[in-house]
Amino acid sequence: MAMTGVLRPGHAQIRVLDLEEGVRHYRDVMGLVETGRDAQGRVYLKCWDERDHNSVILRQAESAGLDFFGFKVLDKETLDKLDADLQAYGLKTERIPAGEMLETGERVRFLLPSGHFIELYSEKTTVGNGCGLVNPAPWSQESERGIGPVRLDHALLYGPNVAEVQKIFTDVLGFFLVERVLNPEGNANLAIWLSCSHKVHDIAFAEYPEPGKLHHCSFLMETWEEVLRAGDIMSMNKVPVDIGPTRHGVTRGCTIYAWDPSGNRFETFMGGYQPYPDYKEPLTWTFDNFGQGLDYPQRKLHETFMTVVS
Ligand code: FE
Repeated sequence: MAMTGVLRPGHAQIRVLDLEEGVRHYRDVMGLVETGRDAQGRVYLKCWDERDHNSVILRQAESAGLDFFGFKVLDKETLDKLDADLQAYGLKTERIPAGEMLETGERVRFLLPSGHFIELYSEKTTVGNGCGLVNPAPWSQESERGIGPVRLDHALLYGPNVAEVQKIFTDVLGFFLVERVLNPEGNANLAIWLSCSHKVHDIAFAEYPEPGKLHHCSFLMETWEEVLRAGDIMSMNKVPVDIGPTRHGVTRGCTIYAWDPSGNRFETFMGGYQPYPDYKEPLTWTFDNFGQGLDYPQRKLHETFMTVVS
């Protein structure tokens, strides 16, 4: 098997100000499948084509934002090895017992110098995508409800110490740098797009003075028409749209940014290209071209992109 180590983004625990309003957004408008509720009152959801039990967990809280972002790793041995590697690197890790999250095995949690909690885990109950494993249908009728993204694709997180974060992801967790935006002086990365796979990014970070901020969680659509249809559904449901539909220069992704009812930004997204880990040089955007990186047709560095986070 060519793919080892960290496999993919697996879950995001998102804070919402009103749980049922959050559920209406993520289940009824986004079209995710509700798969459970736990004793703490958290609500678990998944995108239709995800096979694991959950990818989005909603927790009601006084402030919006991201509690943690989790990556699934290949197996238990990988989990133990990455835990040891993180500690050897000098990061403190915490083991969260299996079952603390519904249908999810033991997690290794650590705090990045950007102020974000990242988790690794290897076990989550397979519930399937509704198509079966024998003579499967090409899509589940669950995908017809709401926006209906395929999966949780990536997140963009804002916080300090992006250079240190980059080192942890590349030197310890096996990610590679796919694209970056330079700071105005051209001597450091203002924003980085990192991949652990064949995807154009699995996580991204941007330099920001306040730690632990969420810019967006992104949900994958299969076609550009589906991204446009997502925009129609947002408007029908009065979901506030931030940017798009348009294309990012960075990653070439076709996108809409919008906000959930609590002010957490999310993205419906498709496209991009397929980088390989032997692409030794990342694609680089100079600061004066940041606007094209964000919104290629309009070449515009939207104010909200830089300033609105949760
Ligand atoms: Fe994105």
